[in-house]
Amino acid sequence: MFTKILIANRGEIACRVAATARRMGIRTAAVYSDADAHARHVMACDEAVHVGGSAPRDSYLRWQRIIDAARATGAQAIHPGYGFLSENEDFAQACQDAGLVFIGPPASAIRDMGLKAESKRLMEAAGVPLVPGYHGQDQDPALLQREAGRIGYPVLIKASAGGGGKGMRAVDKAEDFAAALASCQREAAGSFGNEAVLVEKYVQRPRHIEIQVFGDRHGHVVYLFERDCSVQRRHQKVLEEAPAPGMTEALRRQMGEAAVAAARAVGYVGAGTVEFIVEQPGGYERPEDMKFYFMEMNTRLQVEHPVTEAITGLDLVEWQLRVASGEPLPLAQDQLRLHGHAIEARLCAENPDNDFLPATGQLAVYRKPSASGFEVADVRIDDGVREGDAISPFYDSMIAKLIVRGRTRAEALGRLDAALALVRIVGVQTNVQFLRRVLATPSFSGARLDTALIQREQGRLFGQDPLGLDMAVAAAAAHIMLAERAAETPDPFSRTDGFRSHGVASRRIDFDHQGQPVVAKLRYLPGGLHLQVGDEPAAPLSFTPQDERIDVRYAGRRQVVQVFRRGAALHIFGTDGATAITELDPLASAGEGAGEGGRLTAPMPGKVVSFAVKVGEQVRKGQPLAVMEAMKMEHTIAAPRDGVVGELLFAPGDQVAEGDELLRLAVSA
Ligand code: ADP
Ligand code: ADP
Ligand code: MG
Repeated sequence: MFTKILIANRGEIACRVAATARRMGIRTAAVYSDADAHARHVMACDEAVHVGGSAPRDSYLRWQRIIDAARATGAQAIHPGYGFLSENEDFAQACQDAGLVFIGPPASAIRDMGLKAESKRLMEAAGVPLVPGYHGQDQDPALLQREAGRIGYPVLIKASAGGGGKGMRAVDKAEDFAAALASCQREAAGSFGNEAVLVEKYVQRPRHIEIQVFGDRHGHVVYLFERDCSVQRRHQKVLEEAPAPGMTEALRRQMGEAAVAAARAVGYVGAGTVEFIVEQPGGYERPEDMKFYFMEMNTRLQVEHPVTEAITGLDLVEWQLRVASGEPLPLAQDQLRLHGHAIEARLCAENPDNDFLPATGQLAVYRKPSASGFEVADVRIDDGVREGDAISPFYDSMIAKLIVRGRTRAEALGRLDAALALVRIVGVQTNVQFLRRVLATPSFSGARLDTALIQREQGRLFGQDPLGLDMAVAAAAAHIMLAERAAETPDPFSRTDGFRSHGVASRRIDFDHQGQPVVAKLRYLPGGLHLQVGDEPAAPLSFTPQDERIDVRYAGRRQVVQVFRRGAALHIFGTDGATAITELDPLASAGEGAGEGGRLTAPMPGKVVSFAVKVGEQVRKGQPLAVMEAMKMEHTIAAPRDGVVGELLFAPGDQVAEGDELLRLAVSA
């Protein structure tokens, strides 16, 4: 076994590989870019070598530097993780030439499986079932179009060198073929430096089921069962599970054996995944009718490998290290067992409501379920970030993977939702609530799986959050009142909002919720505290804090919420969902107006109570200038900066409209 390995990757996969190495007593060396100088994966390793600038092409893809780093640290082997150099045959070869072990398959197997078209020709020869299609070398557009006609529409044009869900075009009819082909070739040339395409039958309502395989250098190849990765957005995986719902023993064996044949055909060693597209001609109710076709082989450890670990009880990175160091596979096919059910969710920095646009930012709050004080059984989190870290535009938008296990699928699903409900992320938009909504759809919970699931269920997945505006306002108001109570100052005049624990019995708070202004009115009525949200009728509000949570009861509904304030924004995490709402400080807007032209305007309609200053008086920033009464509350208008009172435009008792100028402040001489 190796005594030291270099991990040529970053983020969660680098941390994950380092964890197994440490457990096995193997020392680790990290590589890092400028942006990752203080990243978690650097801390997870015993040594670290800086390899260049933040962009991958300046660091994680510079394989000569990475090989030099391995040599300099005395590592005997390089683990490439996934992405970056993991499927780069030149890198695998260069490792070997430098006397280093590449922890992955031989360079020849990467090459054979590297191009989708070539790999299909090899698979055809090995008797592995293929999607009906054309994967020849002749790329004449007229020929490709004829082939599409022969296959029958709809067809899928795929960049042969494509990956990561890019370089694919579905074509419904012959008239659209030429334009789709040209656009696919352009993307293929731009993204992959190779414009070759293949044409396949576009399988309707397919499932994506893949088989984990493992080979060693002693001629053994086994399969570690399947993963269902049908829940996808933009041809990229969102949720993955094992085993595949409805999988029969017979089909599992057939697919497993086909995957082993595929691996053997290219002399495969190490961890690999054979991806199949699965047709369901009998619909969801007849999984025994499923037909599978080879799609591609990923010659590396896959993002979703933890679900296989969860159902087999194995550590696939340990297997990789054993196989790479020359050991035989730890178990034979008939010793492999499958227990229970596992589901993985990819937590990504993205905006599901805006076509999953990747998001960046700082993880101002990042709390895993375990930080909640509650326990959900059999939850594993694989991540490579800490609270305070940035999600930068340089790398993948995946923040963490949440993997749960249960005896049954229903148990795993329940645990995944329970765990997701306890994730707290503020500062970066994420898909956490979206994932919860996907889990709750009848399609997912009923295991009616296919790659169009998200599209089919879109009505339940996008837009409104189940927490709802009323509950968000109730939670925000509760949080604001509790924070004020906690910070209760002895000097009542330092308070500017006019709401005091003794005295004023009502107040108004203005919010902005997703671009819409929302007025919240709080009143102490004989029956207790009441909240009115917008034009809705007022309803009783009560709340009880406990630790970091608040039990909020409003209008007959109850939620246990946790609220984080960031500036004016309140990030609310409830039992049912999560949302953010911004507290609008009416005085802040008065101050803004003053900053521009020295004018001080009424933040809302009301009555002038008094002026605290006289014309010509020198005032200091923050000094009270006037008191207004609005919505049965007093508001103090404070000086936004130092100055001299120029003119008072109203008298005490006057009614003013929103935006009316109350007084003028001149710059001090
Ligand atoms: P999986 O099949 O495990 O979902 P993918 O093929 O989607 O894996 O890619 C795994 C990882 O590799 C991605 O998360 C990404 O980091 C990286 N990757 C793969 N292909 C590309 C690509 N074309 N562009 C950028 N990153 C890619
Ligand atoms: P990538 O290298 O980007 O992972 P794949 O060939 O594995 O490309 O395909 C990615 C996804 O695209 C699949 O998981 C599936 O959802 C969809 N897909 C691929 N081939 C077909 C097909 N012939 N018919 C329908 N959907 C397909
Ligand atoms: Mg794929």
